[in-house]
Amino acid sequence: MRPVLVLVDHTATQRTVCRSTCALLTLARRLGPPTALVCGRADAAGVALLGRFGATRIAAVARPELDAHPAAARVEVLAHLARRTRPAAVLIASHRLGQEVAARLTARLGTGLITDVADLRMGAGGPVAVKSALEGAYRVEARVSGGTPVFTVRTDAVIPVAAPVEPEVRRVDVTFPPAVRAVRRLGRRPAGVELPPELATAAIVVAGGRGMGSQQSFGLVGALAEALRGIAGGSHTATELGWCPRRDQIDQLGTIVHPRLYLALGISGSVRHRAAMQHAETIVAIDRDPGAPIFDLAHLGVVGDVHRVVPELLAEIRRRKAQPVISSREVAT
Ligand SMILES: Cc1cc2nc3c(=O)[nH]c(=O)nc-3n(C[C@H](O)[C@H](O)[C@H](O)COP(=O)(O)OP(=O)(O)OC[C@H]3O[C@@H](n4cnc5c(N)ncnc54)[C@H](O)[C@@H]3O)c2cc1C
Repeated sequence: MRPVLVLVDHTATQRTVCRSTCALLTLARRLGPPTALVCGRADAAGVALLGRFGATRIAAVARPELDAHPAAARVEVLAHLARRTRPAAVLIASHRLGQEVAARLTARLGTGLITDVADLRMGAGGPVAVKSALEGAYRVEARVSGGTPVFTVRTDAVIPVAAPVEPEVRRVDVTFPPAVRAVRRLGRRPAGVELPPELATAAIVVAGGRGMGSQQSFGLVGALAEALRGIAGGSHTATELGWCPRRDQIDQLGTIVHPRLYLALGISGSVRHRAAMQHAETIVAIDRDPGAPIFDLAHLGVVGDVHRVVPELLAEIRRRKAQPVISSREVAT
């Protein structure tokens, strides 16, 4: 099967892969095995996240030209990969840089570009893009009739869905033309504040509900998330009560999560909440009501008071973290 090239977005300081990339990978998988192009460092956390959302290959290129001339240098790398791998499509997020890269790349490849795509599917004659037109009055389906299609995607409209694979990481060697090489970076100063990892793509999510009892006790949710290196969120009720910011509300119309581990603390498991977390790989629920619907979903359930169970859990995690790591050599002797 022909691969699908996905241009990876990072936050300003390059530390976190953006949610937009996980959304692109979700759509790319429908068209073929995704190859994620990382412009910058492909660190372990980034590789793990890209693998979790189905990138079978990661092509990494770290060159100063990518900072000095972001659009032109990315076009060079994408064009190089497109010539070598003949992908079924190239997917790029529909932000300012993405639009510039996509337009230049399409001209370079001599193919066709469809912008602001909301959805993608594989049709008989190749990838089919779905867009909305006339302020949503019509859904339009469009296809590029020749060559490698380039799509810019409105990633906010796409819910990232995990599909874990073990990616193969390769370094890309590109020769940049003189016009790109001639630009030299003199310094670098991130303009924005580093965004925290995102709830929608987090591998570990700890969520609290009404059962936490108060704003103060809700602090246990954050503490447990921090101890497990996860992200905290809350039910609709927890946000209504003001214990949790609205952007971290986990429900059908808020954030939909696909973590490897989901901990529900004092959350009954209403239909709308379940719709947003039921695809987690492992669900652990703590609730004092043994009849709470969350236990129908949970892989591991603890019937108990969160004010007793969560501090004990935290103490156990901290105790284990404090234990010295015994190397295999020490065990053998
Ligand atoms: C007007 C309105 C609008 C709504 N809109 C939405 C919406 O947009 N999205 C949405 O998802 N839902 C919505 N709902 C429904 C409701 O908010 C959801 O059911 C919500 O997910 C419930 O949150 P919860 O699980 O935190 O609270 P609850 O359903 O009240 O569950 C709390 C759980 O905590 C447990 N508990 C209590 N104390 C403790 C303790 N000390 N230790 C352990 N467990 C304990 C209880 O046994 C219970 O299972 C709406 C409801 C109304 C009335």
